[in-house]
Order: sequence, then C-alpha cells, then structure tokens
Amino acid sequence: MAQNWDTARICLNGHVLTAHLSKHPDSGNFCAKCGAKAIDHCPNCNTPIHGLPFNWNNPWFKPPTYCHECGEPYPWAGRVLAVEKDRIIRLTSLAYWFQVTMRKLSAVSVWFRRLLKPPWTRSEIFQLIGILAVIAGIVVTIILYT
Ligand SMILES: [Zn+2]
Ligand SMILES: [Zn+2]
Repeated sequence: MAQNWDTARICLNGHVLTAHLSKHPDSGNFCAKCGAKAIDHCPNCNTPIHGLPFNWNNPWFKPPTYCHECGEPYPWAGRVLAVEKDRIIRLTSLAYWFQVTMRKLSAVSVWFRRLLKPPWTRSEIFQLIGILAVIAGIVVTIILYT
C-alpha cells in the first residue's frame, strides 16, 4: 500500500506540533502551548496519525477527530473545538483592533489635511503635535505586533 500521508504529531488537547513528522522529527514530545503530552500514533490501534500529504504545505492543518484505521475518537476530540474557539476569539479581537485603528486613521487624515495649511494657531500646533504622537504610537504598535 502506498503511503502518501505524512504523520502528524498532536498534543492530547489538540494542538498540532507538526503535520509533517518526517520533516520535523524533532518537534518534541510535549506541547509548547499547553504542556500536554504529544502523540503521533493512535492510542487504540497504534496506526500513525494522518498529517498532510508529503508534498503539501498548509499552515491551517486541522487535526483529525477520529482514527482513520479503527474509528476511535482521538483524545482531543471535543477539545479541538475549544482550541479553535480560542483562535477565533483572538483573530476577531485583532480584526476589531484593526478596524478601530483604521477608523481613527481616516479621521486623523481628514483633520491632518485641514491642518496642513499654515498659518497655524496655537491650538492647531498642539493638535499637530498630538497627531504626530498618535502616528508615532501606531507605528510603534505595528512594529511591536509584527
Ligand atoms: Zn497543547
Ligand atoms: Zn486507531
């Protein structure tokens, strides 16, 4: 039988250590995210857990829920959903932050265009300094988060 699937190593809570055990044999025996033990064979029938096909590369690999050989649910069945939910919450909060920043940026740019025409009053100079501080803050935030 042709073996087209690479083996995956997954922690008992469903975090994927690697979907390509052949390329990353040193991916560790314990999860770096939660500290749980990691397995690469079905605990019931000892069949290697399907990762990705050898020539595929997919950072969004989702661990299988059931063993393809014996049909038993893997230890993380049901917990994977919690991991997934966690990721969605993190992604949506990041998207929300991005939206708020973009809205602020567009408001700032309207303001900025109006303020680009001298002569400035004293309060406009203070506003300009404030805007520059906001822009510096955004730049620093982007640098820190990427
Ligand atoms: Zn884990
Ligand atoms: Zn099995």
